[in-house]
Amino acid sequence: MDIKRADQQYIANTYKRTDVLFVEGKGAVLKDETGKAYIDLGSGIAVNTFGIADDAWIDAVTTQLQRLQHVSNLYYTEPQVLLAKKLCERSGLKKVFFGNSGAEANECMIKAARKYSVDKYGAGRHTIVTLNHSFHGRTITTLAATGQPTLHQYFQPFTDGFVYAEPDDDDGLLAMVEAHNPCAIMLEPIQGEGGVHALDKAYVQRAAKLCQEKDILLLFDEVQSGNGRTGKLYAYMHYDVLPDIVSTAKGLGGGLPISATLFGEKTQATLAYGSHGSTFGGNPISAAGALNVIDRLDDALLAEVGKKSNYIFERLRHAEGVISIDGMGLMIGIETKKDAAIIAARCLELGVVVLTAHGKVRLLPPLTIPDDLLATAIDRLISALQ
Ligand SMILES: *Cc1c(COP(=O)(O)O)cnc(C)c1O
Repeated sequence: MDIKRADQQYIANTYKRTDVLFVEGKGAVLKDETGKAYIDLGSGIAVNTFGIADDAWIDAVTTQLQRLQHVSNLYYTEPQVLLAKKLCERSGLKKVFFGNSGAEANECMIKAARKYSVDKYGAGRHTIVTLNHSFHGRTITTLAATGQPTLHQYFQPFTDGFVYAEPDDDDGLLAMVEAHNPCAIMLEPIQGEGGVHALDKAYVQRAAKLCQEKDILLLFDEVQSGNGRTGKLYAYMHYDVLPDIVSTAKGLGGGLPISATLFGEKTQATLAYGSHGSTFGGNPISAAGALNVIDRLDDALLAEVGKKSNYIFERLRHAEGVISIDGMGLMIGIETKKDAAIIAARCLELGVVVLTAHGKVRLLPPLTIPDDLLATAIDRLISALQ
């Protein structure tokens, strides 16, 4: 069967496929159907934390698969409890709700923020301030939260109650808060799909202070930036703030679908019996995969992420064809002189997978990419930039 042609015939046309059919891989190397190898600087969009077919992760997942794959959330299961305990201990947050995708984690975060306000202040204080260029998901509500007007065509009417402020603009945020009496401010500490921009630390700290003064909840969307991606377990740890709710997904399961919404001191009791749920959320296999990921993201591994990040920043900062470089850890966006899509296509020819985001070249390598492969990939990327 001609897979590419059958894909075009049978799969809904929501994706612009790159012309490559991947069939297998190991670690940071992917192989296509002709046997050509590629160094992976994309990790399936920050999902494959330890790359492809990692042995210890496979072991954790298949051991669970052979015991129990699912019983629903009507019953206790061990992996999700162990995972929740570990997430709380490592994050300082108090309780976890498990879902399956980033959008669901955000949907849960938004519901909890609204309920917190209704419980305490009654109806009407429902607005959530988000940022321009943000990305929070593809459901009707998370699209409404997303500050990108081009994604808002065709799907009106949206869920009410989202207003957008400009990133890193203190006065703009304050004005929004004064005008709209919001229940929450929702931030991606490092805007991912919007072009990889790490928010300014002083701005985030002032936002956190403003939230505290007015009992506005601080919501962090760490769907992409979480789970070691930035060199800390969660990116909020770089900002010295503790959000009231954190959502995460992509890298959590190491390649399996799972999301977590983590609730802090103030919000831990907000969602109560009957107020939320998910059939698949926290299912034993995904939870076993995630437990393996979180267990292995120790200080030594996170320090390695920092080193690899410094290496990439150093090599690219002054490379020809680079205008600027932004991001944190192994979540990096490169503004380039040449068109980012052309560079990505050239990289693919050279055997390197890179991503793009809003006109930038975006790098999200597996956190465990070996240094020699990383060096080869950066050599090839630098030649593609010329
Ligand atoms: C990818 C992403 C989402 C959406 O996650 P899905 O799993 O595709 O629903 C939400 N927020 C951020 C910051 C993301 O990067």
